[in-house]
Amino acid sequence: MSALAVELGAINLGQGFPDSDGPREVLDIAIDSINAGLNQYPPGNGMQVLRGAIAQHQLRFYGVSYNCDTEVLVTAGATEAIAGAILGLLEPGDEVVLFEPMYDSYQACIALAGAVSVPVLLEPPSYRPNMAALESVITERTKILLINSPHNPTGMLLTREEQEQIVRIAQQHDLVIISDEVYEHLVFDGQHHTSIAEIPEARERSIVISSGGKTFSTTGWKVGWAVGPAHLIAAVRSAKQFLTYVNAAPFQPAIAHGLLMPDEYFERLANNLEDRRNQLCEVLSESGFEYFSPEATYFVTADIRSMQLNGDGREFCRRLAHEAGVVAIPNVAFYTPQNAHHGRHLVRFAFCKQESVITEAANRLRNWSL
Ligand code: PMP
Repeated sequence: MSALAVELGAINLGQGFPDSDGPREVLDIAIDSINAGLNQYPPGNGMQVLRGAIAQHQLRFYGVSYNCDTEVLVTAGATEAIAGAILGLLEPGDEVVLFEPMYDSYQACIALAGAVSVPVLLEPPSYRPNMAALESVITERTKILLINSPHNPTGMLLTREEQEQIVRIAQQHDLVIISDEVYEHLVFDGQHHTSIAEIPEARERSIVISSGGKTFSTTGWKVGWAVGPAHLIAAVRSAKQFLTYVNAAPFQPAIAHGLLMPDEYFERLANNLEDRRNQLCEVLSESGFEYFSPEATYFVTADIRSMQLNGDGREFCRRLAHEAGVVAIPNVAFYTPQNAHHGRHLVRFAFCKQESVITEAANRLRNWSL
């Protein structure tokens, strides 16, 4: 869809990347690091300065302490942390229970490990997890519960109570939790993300994953991390060793600096994005879409059935690109093949774009839907 947006000169509200730079001071540290010659392999588990900053960040925002030498691993984006955790922990035939729709790399990595994805549907309009459904699919082959909150593509944020229920299930069945928290700082309406590892019973069985990409608008740097108890982080590291070995030396001190920036930075980021969410949701509603208002992330999922009578999200996205000059993503991409019909009529818009870009997209959508 991004290629189509370029080809047509359409406004790209498809792929989730911001169209403005992150903090100048963070960018400058990367430039200075290159100029200072920080251009060779950094240590395998990441540079000390970044591992220390990640540990401080987890303590400051979530009150969870990690040993930065044994319990923190720097990865090539959250994507490599996910891949490393899955490849490092699973044997062929093992099962991973995860919510669907889902970030598309989960299924692919589970397949690479020869393991099996066992999806549990998050159903509209609330997309809240159904714990009975979750528990009902657990078997003795289940090894991992993979969760993602704040959730892509729906923008659902797990409550503390839901997290506690998930942890209880993990404890009962002795499962490892992989918790993808990459949108941790993009939370709206005065709510806050809580890390799964804040729950004491979760700390020793959870790999918490995040990334600098979303928080510092540096998605192209691919600096991510995994934190968790030493034995689980060692498993992720053993896979990472042969995936990328190391990554992104000059970006590591820059992201370290970002993680230590004052609270105001993180608050402003969420507030700005909340304004963009409101702007986009208003126009979606005026244009006749039904949508789920996201509590977090930078995505909004809309139901297109009132505008596309056959309910085909792929066809709708192609029409929208050609006729309105706005690109969205068909949500069918976030479902397993067996459940694709649940996402067929849904599309995702990203609002991590400048105000003027969303205003222009809004004008195009209004004119198109007239
Ligand atoms: N997890 C989720 C839920 C995501 O949406 C994304 C990015 N789209 C990632 C992980 C990947 O993050 P990174 O770019 O740091 O690899």
